[in-house]
Amino acid sequence: MTDILKYYTLEEKKILEDCTLCPRKCHKNRLNGERGFCNLDADINIALICLHKGEEPILSREKGVCNVFFSHCNCQCVFCQNHKISNNSLEPKNLYPTVGSVVTEIEKILQKSENILGFVSPTHQIPAMNVIIRELHKRNIYPKIVYNSNGYDNPEVLKSLENVVDIYLPDFKYISEDLSLKFSKTKDYGEKTLLAIKEMYRQKGSSILTDKDDKIESGLIIRHLLLPNYLEESKKVLDTIAWDISTAVTLSIMSQYTPPFVLPFEELNTKTTKEEYAELVDFFYELGFYKGFLQDTSSQETCLPDFDNNRFINQNPT
Ligand code: SF4
Repeated sequence: MTDILKYYTLEEKKILEDCTLCPRKCHKNRLNGERGFCNLDADINIALICLHKGEEPILSREKGVCNVFFSHCNCQCVFCQNHKISNNSLEPKNLYPTVGSVVTEIEKILQKSENILGFVSPTHQIPAMNVIIRELHKRNIYPKIVYNSNGYDNPEVLKSLENVVDIYLPDFKYISEDLSLKFSKTKDYGEKTLLAIKEMYRQKGSSILTDKDDKIESGLIIRHLLLPNYLEESKKVLDTIAWDISTAVTLSIMSQYTPPFVLPFEELNTKTTKEEYAELVDFFYELGFYKGFLQDTSSQETCLPDFDNNRFINQNPT
């Protein structure tokens, strides 16, 4: 166990004592060592801190983002590209012995970055994320904070992050209950993710705010990964965003799906085709979306997000 317990606020301890950080609402006392679906106690578990240049260009720019990859996840999607660190049946990776060493490593990497700090899969470790941010502030370090989650978040918890997170970067994977049960071990992924993204939208609206140097200051970017053979599901997701949120939000439509290993779902053991992707992009325009990142299908070769071939579109039709 690291020394993180002494850094938690009373409020954070309270939520860890009866964990409802995500919609699974396991009600486990993680402070006492109990573990819920994410199979983590109250310790900080970070698998990797690194400079990452593969996020959307508006985030990465030239120097990249300092990304903190948390171990384990509250979703367990069968096609997860980060399965080596997100698999809850494995012992969580924790590379750093103390909170101080985590913050020192982040400080070092931030200096080489665009001064943007991205937390990847933070949902089940939000209290630890908050500790890191507070400790950085104590050192007079104030990066822009990116909350990069699978979207399966608790809106009540997100409310507490209103003045903490600058940029929300959630996934919206699917909407159908049968698909989310089949691939992410929960029937309500679509329903709960929609509620979570509505809360993010309430906080950030549809505008991406930038400073005088065009550096991102705040906003919401919704990511959607097109799965092979599931074009109709992707259309349903875009349709839901258009009707239930707004066509003025920024979407990132990703074509990079690659099976992480041979999966027990034959339809996923392939890549998305250019035709499928092109049809989804046409649908994006048909619905009236006009802000987003589109990907070249050649990025399927990458293991982690690689947006080198992206183009940012901002074509207000009016
Ligand atoms: S964060 Fe983990 S323990 Fe808490 S509700 Fe979600 S899956 Fe359960």
